[in-house]
Amino acid sequence: IVKMEKLNKNFGSLHVLKDVDLSVTPGEVVVIIGASGSGKSTLIRCINGLEEFQSGALEVDGRRLEPDGRASKALQQIRTEVGMVFQQFNLFPHLTVRDNVTLAPRKVRNASTAEARETADRLLDRVGIANQAEKYPSQLSGGQQQRVALARALAMEPRLMLFDEPTSALDPEMIGEVLDAMRELAREGMTMVIVTHEMTFAREVADRVIYIHQGEIVEEGAPEQVFDNPQHERTQSFLSRVL
Ligand code: ATP
Ligand code: MG
Repeated sequence: IVKMEKLNKNFGSLHVLKDVDLSVTPGEVVVIIGASGSGKSTLIRCINGLEEFQSGALEVDGRRLEPDGRASKALQQIRTEVGMVFQQFNLFPHLTVRDNVTLAPRKVRNASTAEARETADRLLDRVGIANQAEKYPSQLSGGQQQRVALARALAMEPRLMLFDEPTSALDPEMIGEVLDAMRELAREGMTMVIVTHEMTFAREVADRVIYIHQGEIVEEGAPEQVFDNPQHERTQSFLSRVL
């Protein structure tokens, strides 16, 4: 569902992604790890066109994204098919939890109010916050807000979900509930690309782990392989710092 070949990305003179090859197959859960500034966020933001890239090939769900932001029609399609959850929840503060979840389906998919509401309530139930639908984001805990963000992304029936450090802004006691919701999603077969520092979670949920260093994929493989038997010295020293 994702085919990235020799992708290069610059921010001005800074070469942030270097010949990155990344394929993701339907149902696969790929976890990306690496030090701060290594390019993890930039990499997943390229997948849904939040960042332009300068060279290479990128296809998402059969649609081609061109370098330098050309082909905006494919981009619009990809945005409706790819859901994303960020470190910051980015909920609309003036909308209730339910309205946060129904907004995009109503505006983008032209779903009826009743239909969107039914979907929203089902998804809120699924992430364990059905009883919070009438509240505003500021009235919820961080973990609850992040689960609303997850429900909001799922309401678009995405074919692929991207997560960029979804638990990094949470108090420790709230991390588990968000990871549980993501585990459940993985179990249901959702295709997911996840940037996380939660190594225990990564080991458990990933089909494949990718280690990125200074914009290059240095190592990738099954979680047991990467975590227990890393081949590269870079991976070894990174893991020895975070495990
Ligand atoms: P972290 O773990 O801290 O989130 P990351 O691996 O997600 O790090 P990126 O955010 O992808 O790293 O950043 C990669 C590099 O690109 C860094 O050197 C960063 O300073 C730079 N960078 C990121 N966004 C921009 C931008 N909008 N303009 C210029 N440089 C940027
Ligand atoms: Mg980042």
